[in-house]
Amino acid sequence: MTLAFDNSKIDIPPVPGPEEPENTSGYILPVKRVSKDGGDYIVHCPHCMSIISLQGEDLSEIRGEQFQHKKREYLGPRGMRTSGCDGWLEVTQNAKFVREL
Ligand SMILES: [Zn+2]
Repeated sequence: MTLAFDNSKIDIPPVPGPEEPENTSGYILPVKRVSKDGGDYIVHCPHCMSIISLQGEDLSEIRGEQFQHKKREYLGPRGMRTSGCDGWLEVTQNAKFVREL
C-alpha cells in the first residue's frame, strides 16, 4: 500500500476567465414596442438599445418585418463617428404601439 499523494486525480476546476460580452448581432431579436417620432416609426434596437427609425408607412407594414441596424459613419461634432451595430431585429406581428419608448 502506498501513501504517495497522487495529485493527478484531483479535479481542479478551471479558473473562470473574464466574461466575454455576448455578441448577439448574428441573431434576429424580436422587438415588441414601436413608437413614432415625426413621420418615422422608431424602435429600440434590441442589440445596442439605441433608438433607430424604420422605413414604413403603416404599422401593419413594419409588423413581421426584419430590419438591420446598419453600421454607418457620420460626421459628429468631434469628427467621424460610427453608429449602428449591424444587428438584425424583427418587429413582432403583435408589436404594440406606444407613445414613448
Ligand atoms: Zn443596434
